[in-house]
Amino acid sequence: MSYVTLEELGRIAETELAAVNKKLEQGPLTTKDRMAIPQQDMPVLEPRGRARLMDEVAMGYTSEQAIVEAQRCLQCKNQPCVNGCPVNVPIPQFIAEIAKGDFKKSVDIIKTTNLLPAICGRVCPQEKQCQEQCTVGKALKDVEKSVAIGRLERFVADYERENNLQTLPDIAPDTGKRVAIIGSGPAGLTAAADVRRDGHEVVVFEAFHKSGGVMVYGIPEFRLPKTIVSQEIDQLKRMGVQFRENFLVGRTGTLMQLLEEQGFDAAFVGTGAGLPKFLNIEGENLIGVFSANEYLTRANLMRAYDKNADTPLYDAKHVAIVGGGNVAMDAARTAFRLGAEKVSVIYRRTRNEMPARREEIAHAEEEGVEFLFLENPTRILGDEEGRIRGVEALSYQLGEPDESGRRSPVAIPGSEHEIPCDALIVALGNDSSPLMMKTTPGLEVNRKGNIKADESCATSLPKVWAGGDIVQGAATVILAMGDGRRAAASINEYLKQA
Ligand code: FAD
Ligand code: SF4
Ligand code: SF4
Repeated sequence: MSYVTLEELGRIAETELAAVNKKLEQGPLTTKDRMAIPQQDMPVLEPRGRARLMDEVAMGYTSEQAIVEAQRCLQCKNQPCVNGCPVNVPIPQFIAEIAKGDFKKSVDIIKTTNLLPAICGRVCPQEKQCQEQCTVGKALKDVEKSVAIGRLERFVADYERENNLQTLPDIAPDTGKRVAIIGSGPAGLTAAADVRRDGHEVVVFEAFHKSGGVMVYGIPEFRLPKTIVSQEIDQLKRMGVQFRENFLVGRTGTLMQLLEEQGFDAAFVGTGAGLPKFLNIEGENLIGVFSANEYLTRANLMRAYDKNADTPLYDAKHVAIVGGGNVAMDAARTAFRLGAEKVSVIYRRTRNEMPARREEIAHAEEEGVEFLFLENPTRILGDEEGRIRGVEALSYQLGEPDESGRRSPVAIPGSEHEIPCDALIVALGNDSSPLMMKTTPGLEVNRKGNIKADESCATSLPKVWAGGDIVQGAATVILAMGDGRRAAASINEYLKQA
């Protein structure tokens, strides 16, 4: 598809809105009218130019685009989209307000169940959640043509922030009870907000020097600007939530010390899944081999792309990435922005089996990322100075489906070949760090090292709740937020009686 500018998309939407308004003068829109309105494209930065910039790629709808897109919603009585959202955002209701042009009312409706709409509107895998269930997408037999719920959510959240319309929620009088939140990712931040609303003192303990979890150190600036996350954190600070950064629970102090010596009445553990998986092949210790975690943390949190930052940049011209998920796409696109001239993604299955979002794959491709399908490294090759000079890979073909339902890759004997590169980024997913479990006697974990928690996020220990990736394994922002909400409700209930 050829590139269409923001201005052009804005003009198209103005024409469409005029046509919609004309129809409305004759009476309410019919289902047929609504189905005939084309989905509004997201305006984006021009692909080749943006591949060298950290600026956000998706620019957000214009007001006209948002209203036209909102008119596509059929206001289904059974609201299937709401069931597809892990926090049950009242989707038809917030979209109806956009159609009327009341953007502030719309965002207020979203915030009854989702505290971070500017973030979720950007990073939720909507095509597998709310939009997957949308009647419009089903009728058009294409989930990509569903009502663009996420884009609309982002639009009203941005409208509220850009026009300084954010208001602080009501906070109950001080109860004298204290709650420790371990980890400042979406699970921890959501739990902190909801516990604070009930009047409890809340302290968030964060290992890094900056709060926000993966939203600041993993998801790149060009997908989620860090100012958006920091404004959400400022909002929590204004509510009275305290942040203690550079505090690694398990080293700086243990969870039990917080509860038994520092007077906390309850704790929520939202420490995420930050332990990278590796290939475990020869050469993985060579200079120039990074986990995606380290590579993205250097770029995002430590701002390696910024010439004024002290973080050293590893200078590589041909960067290879192994993996096929969203983290691999983020690392590949970041590599161009850190100066790579060529970026190759090595994936052992085909495009059809890639777990990354379609949109992320398309953006990576538009920016010039090369995909090497049905290949996988077997050995990392180094030069005499201990630096990577390439990988040896095997070619694969697809066999029978495995337990994930995807056809499993089968190596082709004798197909070894070299892929030259001067950096390799391993993006194979993350496990949970064992630190909390090792330093908290009695905290039960499953065989994958994830903390065991029940429906209300209560763990095996009294006074301790847990949620987000440390319980679910590497999942999503909105699922982590959902856990934070459930845990906070349970903590608030417990503290009423404690
Ligand atoms: P995290 O966000 O991981 O936050 C945990 C926090 O706890 C961290 O700040 C960590 O430093 C801190 N911590 C850890 N141990 C301790 C300790 N012992 N003491 C104190 N603090 C501690 N999801 C999406 O929905 N959409 C996306 O587009 C998306 N893209 C992603 C891209 C990347 C590169 C990665 C890695 C993940 C992505 N995810 C995405 C997944 C999503 O970010 C996570 O599911 C989500 O952030 C989990 O939230 P959490 O609060 O459980 O943990
Ligand atoms: Fe969809 Fe995510 Fe918003 Fe829920 S929070 S409605 S899943 S974009
Ligand atoms: Fe609107 Fe789609 Fe939800 Fe129906 S399923 S109410 S069309 S967003």
